[in-house]
Amino acid sequence: MIMRDDVLAWLNSFRQVLAENKVYLTELDSAIGDADHGINMDRGFGAVEAKLPSVVNSDIASILKMVGMTLVSTVGGAGGPLYGTFFMRAGAAVAGKMELSAADFLAALEAGLAGVQQRGKATTGEKTMIDALTPARDALRTAVENGSSIGEALRASVTAAEQGMKATIPMLATKGRASYLGERSIGHQDPGATSSYLMLKCAADTWSKL
Ligand code: ADP
Ligand code: MG
Repeated sequence: MIMRDDVLAWLNSFRQVLAENKVYLTELDSAIGDADHGINMDRGFGAVEAKLPSVVNSDIASILKMVGMTLVSTVGGAGGPLYGTFFMRAGAAVAGKMELSAADFLAALEAGLAGVQQRGKATTGEKTMIDALTPARDALRTAVENGSSIGEALRASVTAAEQGMKATIPMLATKGRASYLGERSIGHQDPGATSSYLMLKCAADTWSKL
């Protein structure tokens, strides 16, 4: 089972990884956007980190909802509200839970992704975070249905997310700021797909023994 402390460890790890990748994510966004994705994510998760001590005794749903609300209130642009929606919906999907099974984490990822799709109106193939999250969700679902452990299921999910992230390189952007570039968006990896891959990689690395 994924315990509350495991969720807190995942969030702390993602906060660290975002700080380490702030320049990288911003460089990716400078090629096809406005050069702020790394700065946005770092600022948002810096605010999350500051609030984590206030939720260490809360249930997992409340922790995830706090993350979402913090991102929405501290990060502007598209990325903040989309990640905010992801975490708020993920939290709502595991209401009241103090621990998560692999199936519960799948339910959280499914709900989070559905929220991002609803809010951003993007589908796969449009060069967004959806292109990393969708194959990740599908691989996680298959692994959970086959009875894999949490660690194994997450590893399969991350491999799919990484492929999805790389598959954004040849895509033409049709949503978000990158779409303003038209054909010139081709040949660059999407920053949001990259941060989504990193988010799942942090989960897989943190929960590898589960
Ligand atoms: P902004 O585009 O406002 O500067 P960020 O740079 O933080 O916000 O985030 C950009 C990322 O947001 C993109 O790389 C893409 O993955 C994601 N994104 C943008 N628009 C959408 C959308 N409509 N649906 C899903 N993801 C989107
Ligand atoms: Mg940007």
